[in-house]
Amino acid sequence: MPSATTPIQIDGSYGEGGGQIIRTSLSLSAITGQPFEITNIRAGRSKPGLQPQHLAAVRAAQIICCAHLEGDSIGSTRLAFSPGTPVQPGTYRFEIGTAGAATLVAQTVLCPLGLANGDSEVTIVGGTHVPHAPPADYLLGSYIPAIRATGLEACGDYSRAGFFPKGGGEIRLAIRARARPGAVAMTERGALRSLTAFIVTSELPDHVFDRGASTVDGYMKGIGRRVDIERREKPSLGPGAAVVLSAECENGLAGFSSLGERGKPMEKVAEQACRDFLAWWKTGAAVDEHLSDQLVLPAVLTPGEHRWTTPMVTEHLRTAVWVAGKFVPLEYDFEEQAPDVHLVRLRS
Ligand code: ATP
Repeated sequence: MPSATTPIQIDGSYGEGGGQIIRTSLSLSAITGQPFEITNIRAGRSKPGLQPQHLAAVRAAQIICCAHLEGDSIGSTRLAFSPGTPVQPGTYRFEIGTAGAATLVAQTVLCPLGLANGDSEVTIVGGTHVPHAPPADYLLGSYIPAIRATGLEACGDYSRAGFFPKGGGEIRLAIRARARPGAVAMTERGALRSLTAFIVTSELPDHVFDRGASTVDGYMKGIGRRVDIERREKPSLGPGAAVVLSAECENGLAGFSSLGERGKPMEKVAEQACRDFLAWWKTGAAVDEHLSDQLVLPAVLTPGEHRWTTPMVTEHLRTAVWVAGKFVPLEYDFEEQAPDVHLVRLRS
């Protein structure tokens, strides 16, 4: 391992300036063996520095490659990370301890473990349906199917849901060592093959599910779309609800979610996810804007030219490409094909 080399310097306030810079750096450092030092961590956020979800990602990455750490404490705005060994496949359990997003911790270790020389099983405890993060249903139903093109293979489930503020959700993933790398090619999405609505409820009466399901059904009938409804009633430490729509096209994938909150009728929760789906559908892009930034990491780890279309070039997307370029050589460009269709081309 080249851990004696000078650490790559990362400015954590660059671009989007959030936790994504830390997680992407952790994954790439674990995979390439290059140490890094990040400063100004989450400088522009209301609570700067490492928060429990980020710290859990740091510890998870540390454990899988026996890394040496400095600055690994809550609120720290500087972190030094130096891998000690190649990524070790195995059975792992990571606990965030709050409602911090378990899905984001999962994404931090999924690529490194997928590229390790053996299969792994990972359990992550934390938030499964929390704001500003992929819900568990999105991780399983949109993200994992999308990265399959790069040869990364995982499957999983969540036995418990975790909502804000208690967390306590539990996601399990079985990650297979990569067999056949390939390029992402999602430009013309083609026909809609399936549209599934996951209606998630915990500790709530049956009518909440019924109202969510009939709102989705009615909305989709209204726009002439067939939708399969799947009930996901999960144990949890507290009440919570979510609606996650998963769209699979001939050559495209996207997910849309909306979270329940006290005082917000389930009809409104369901309608929001439906509207987001419809807005994306009208664009013609092959993936949604979140998947677009999440595809960067698996793509840069896979030789070849990757191409996908997204409704917009977000700051998260630009930032992901910027961080990746610190660790691996890459070329990329964004081409506006229509006001809401942008082609991402990335070669590594
Ligand atoms: P911070 O608190 O600093 O913003 P963070 O780690 O919580 O940090 P970001 O750095 O903003 O979060 O990264 C959030 C990630 O979650 C991005 O990859 C983004 O695309 C993804 N994401 C956010 N909302 C959704 C959603 N509704 N569906 C799918 N993915 C999402």
